Amino acid sequence: HPPFDVHAVRRDFPILQERVNGRQLVWFDNAATTHKPQAVIDRLAHFYAHENSNIHRAAHALAARATDAYEGARETVRRFIGAASVEEIVFVRGTTEAVNLVAKSWGAKNIGEGDEIIVSHLEHHANIVPWQQLAAEKGAKLRVIPVDDSGQVILEAYQRLLNSRTKLVSVTQVSNALGTVVPVQEIVDIAHRHGVRTLVDGAQSVSHLRVDMQALDTDFFVFSGHKIFGPTGIGVVYGKREVLEDMPPWQGGGNMIADVTFERTVFHAPPTRFEAGTGNIADAVGLAAALEYVERIGIENIGRYEHALLDYATQHMRPIPGVRLVGTARDKASVLSFVLDGYGTGEVGQALNQEGIAVRTGHHCAQPILRRFGLEATVRPSLAFYNTCEEVDRMVKVVRQLAGKRR
Ligand code: PMP
Repeated sequence: HPPFDVHAVRRDFPILQERVNGRQLVWFDNAATTHKPQAVIDRLAHFYAHENSNIHRAAHALAARATDAYEGARETVRRFIGAASVEEIVFVRGTTEAVNLVAKSWGAKNIGEGDEIIVSHLEHHANIVPWQQLAAEKGAKLRVIPVDDSGQVILEAYQRLLNSRTKLVSVTQVSNALGTVVPVQEIVDIAHRHGVRTLVDGAQSVSHLRVDMQALDTDFFVFSGHKIFGPTGIGVVYGKREVLEDMPPWQGGGNMIADVTFERTVFHAPPTRFEAGTGNIADAVGLAAALEYVERIGIENIGRYEHALLDYATQHMRPIPGVRLVGTARDKASVLSFVLDGYGTGEVGQALNQEGIAVRTGHHCAQPILRRFGLEATVRPSLAFYNTCEEVDRMVKVVRQLAGKRR
């Protein structure tokens, strides 16, 4: 029995009624971005119709409303990820900006010549490139945790990488290319036993699994609003209070200062210190509406439903002749990457699009992990809780037809 009424849930997402090439849209591109429930769309409209202002609380009535909405959103994020205080929640544009903030601020202060930063082979480019840039600047080194043939990280190899030069371990919790759920709790615990700081990339995990900063105990956790049914242009850096307090600003300007003269500037405490200029106020408020929506359905219910759906899709895709599933770890979320003999991934994507089915094809901004499997591209359906078995059947039918006329 499904833990919620999926057809009722689908009615909350107006875009799911859209027609593409004469067929009702099937959205299997949730790892790229998710759709927005009416509650989020309404919240954005309400903000602009009734609360819009810059956030200088004391200035006037609308400023107070906008400030309350924005700071209320920070509290919702805090509750959703189980952070200890709102001072630990920094609003940024998304996961990419979040990793860059940590690299430019914490990294600039704490990474030096000969130091090492550990990432995994599964990382999205957003969790590779900023560290590579920092390493080049500082004369530091990037080390990579290898994965096995199922696409899971090899923990013993990780332990061997840790040494006295290691300063940071930065890993994704769920791979956007393969769907692997990485054992980040173990990875964080082991790093901390070595006195090493950690960053967990939650871009692909927060919408599928419960995350709790108290249990996970990571130093940093980052995610994007648009991948959890919220707006684009808003994301979060969670940082432990004592870690953020010890970090310099990474951008200078208005809002983040306590006092400025031409001789010197006194910066605000976190999180304000890291939010220079006018932020994305409305979309932070929209993100809070999205998190509240997820809380109403229940993230455990969502995870359970999606897990059954992914199993169903895997069981129906695997036997199709010529289909090779990429990423077969025991613990997976949402993503079913594959290639089809005799076809380029773009051709498979186009055939699916012809039937109204949206999937991502290409390298998914994760070239190293695809190359680990000898590939430059895959077809990547990725599921959310508003998807159904009937939609999976529609995809399977198209792939089976292509496989049948294989060249
Ligand atoms: N990390 C992972 C694991 C991702 O899947 C993505 C988005 N595909 C990012 C980082 C980057 O997120 P954004 O583009 O929202 O900044």
